[in-house]
Amino acid sequence: MTDYNWCHGPRCHKQHTQDRIRGVKGSKVLRTKKIKVQDLSRWYYSQGWENHFCKVACLMDFIKEHFTSVIALGPRTEALETPINVTQEKYSDHWGNHTNTKIEVDETRSTSVG
Ligand SMILES: [Zn+2]
Repeated sequence: MTDYNWCHGPRCHKQHTQDRIRGVKGSKVLRTKKIKVQDLSRWYYSQGWENHFCKVACLMDFIKEHFTSVIALGPRTEALETPINVTQEKYSDHWGNHTNTKIEVDETRSTSVG
């Protein structure tokens, strides 16, 4: 048996698309889209939301509606830092003088966890 989720987009059922129309003449409705649950680890481009939202717009509508609650799940009370080493290389060409800034993560120092 295949599992399905209803799209969690709060306005999904208000989008005027033919694939949302259900019911018989006189009692037709626009219905929230049904999403076939798939093994997202097998999708090259999966971002993890695809089994719960039919499209990015529905995901964003959900986030907008539940923003305060979503932020409360992982509040950021201080900045995180990634240790890096910065080297600058100056060079000139026929357009002028330039500086290449190379940023590399310093794996020998610990990264902020949070
Ligand atoms: Zn949707």
